Amino acid sequence: MSEALRLEKYSFGVGDRFAHQAKAQLRAFVQAAERGVEIAPVWNKSYREHGIVGSRPSSVLAAAEVAVKELGWGRPFHVDADHIRLETVDDFIESSDFYTLDVAESIGHAASDGDVTAFVGRHPELVGRIEIPGIGEPFETTREEIERIARKFLKAVQDAGAIYRHVAAVKGEGRFIAEVSMDETDSPQTPPELLVILAAIADEKIPAQTVAPKFTGRFNKGVDYVGDLAQFEKEFDEDIAVIAHAVKTYDLPSNLKLSVHSGSDKFSIYEPIRKALARTGAGIHVKTAGTTWLEEIIGLAEAGGEGLELAREIYGKALDDIDALCAPYATVIDIDRSKLPSKEEVAGWTSEQYVGALRHDRSNPLYNPSLRQLLHVGYKVAAKMGDRYLRMLKANEEVVGRNVTENIFERHMKPLFLGAETAAGASGD
Ligand SMILES: [Zn+2]
Repeated sequence: MSEALRLEKYSFGVGDRFAHQAKAQLRAFVQAAERGVEIAPVWNKSYREHGIVGSRPSSVLAAAEVAVKELGWGRPFHVDADHIRLETVDDFIESSDFYTLDVAESIGHAASDGDVTAFVGRHPELVGRIEIPGIGEPFETTREEIERIARKFLKAVQDAGAIYRHVAAVKGEGRFIAEVSMDETDSPQTPPELLVILAAIADEKIPAQTVAPKFTGRFNKGVDYVGDLAQFEKEFDEDIAVIAHAVKTYDLPSNLKLSVHSGSDKFSIYEPIRKALARTGAGIHVKTAGTTWLEEIIGLAEAGGEGLELAREIYGKALDDIDALCAPYATVIDIDRSKLPSKEEVAGWTSEQYVGALRHDRSNPLYNPSLRQLLHVGYKVAAKMGDRYLRMLKANEEVVGRNVTENIFERHMKPLFLGAETAAGASGD
């Protein structure tokens, strides 16, 4: 067999809901490479997004290939079948080489008593005092605690194994990157829980190259992190140490790294992440999704004329349909409806007012996170407009593309990988 497909040390996931921005997105990776930081682009689109937009998984690869060719990108890139489950994976087999095995729903569904007992029996090293380089205070665990953790997570890992084997059977082992994700759940996984999960992943023989735990705090769509930053930093640092330890102890892929499903724009955590990467030499995958779609609206609003009109119309329709649009994202948005301007008000907005309210620049007094979250989940409105929306994107390709590139490079890549400025100061223009 040829050498196994290996995910690069730094990778960054971008979503392109309407398949028109791959080139503008890729430009940000080119700019990072010019500054000496190699980041592999990963285009991700979930089953849920495809359903809402009405697109096919093959369109993501097709758009990526065009962008790669046009910009002469000679480095690796990947296409992520994002948040797939056994029922939804089949459509993604041909066009993806990265699979985010989403087993969050299986957490808490108990594995059989026999499996739990066998797991704990196989892993006496998980019971007692566990010293892990990089973690000041050793973990102290009991057999009961490991049983409790196994009961909570073993079934989820077994389910990940089933999806992994399903993909491997058709694509071939080593021909795709596997991520195990447990982020779309309410309670965060602690570093000792992550260690148990990784032991189970090894038992299940999943050659995971990334793992996406649920971190402490709120990861609402399109807006900044809400939570205890010091606690996040401690957990994140410990997770990195746990992964390094698990790679050695359980013979997991040596490039196994954390994947942060950011829900886009978690600027506050970028600084602690960058510091941890610099200190430990660890790699990272950061996944964003809706931030590019919002830059499309910003670009249209900035363009004025018909573009601005369409942006106003999209807001009005999103507001009309707010309950339905928010429903699939209920656990990952916090919209304060009293802060949402009326349709009539927005219908009278200038470019500056619209862009100011939507662009994620916390130093701008016009910035409105509730409006931003509503539009973030409101892409179905544009999907329903069909060609009308796409024609407007093409007519305003330059201004939209400039916003897309700048957003990824200035607000995300710089604070994460270059550290040239803090996220809070990065207005992006
Ligand atoms: Zn996720």
